[in-house]
Amino acid sequence: MHCLSCGAQLHQSGYIQKCEYCGGVTQLNLRTNVSALSFTEKLKIKSNSEKFCDDLSSVVSLAVLYLEDDLTELALNVISRGLGIYPTDAELHLLQAVALLSKDHIKKIKMSDIELVVRHLVFCIKIDMLKFASECNFILNKIQDGYFRRNSIKPTPGFLDLQAEVSAFSTDEVLVSRFKALQ
Ligand SMILES: [Zn+2]
Repeated sequence: MHCLSCGAQLHQSGYIQKCEYCGGVTQLNLRTNVSALSFTEKLKIKSNSEKFCDDLSSVVSLAVLYLEDDLTELALNVISRGLGIYPTDAELHLLQAVALLSKDHIKKIKMSDIELVVRHLVFCIKIDMLKFASECNFILNKIQDGYFRRNSIKPTPGFLDLQAEVSAFSTDEVLVSRFKALQ
């Protein structure tokens, strides 16, 4: 993988916050506070993500930047492409759920998209329950209040099953909440 601030090849594996060469942020994820980055830092991360576009860290970082800037269609494209390369990455499934919900106000989203969101969250939980259960629980609560309750629609069995599975996980300090669709 590469540092997305300077493009250097990194030798550590897994998630690293700070680059050993430039001291910059190596990659973004749903828990990164992107608003704390400067415009120049974001620009560098964007251009390096495009350069190393097949790296998983690039796909996730680019999707987070697009979601942050409300460029939902671009986010959906980059995540779909990423899922084609990394179909079993839990974070990409979570990001796709957030991106689908960002298409419109939750209340107005099509039922077929809500079902798709739930399917992505089910995948996410199957792959990495411990890492993302809080995020999934938070998103499901948003759908429950913003979609099913407001539209007086009965939640689907798949939705209720998943909600029961993750309901014990705390939703405090879930940074995914900063995305407009989920506020
Ligand atoms: Zn660097």
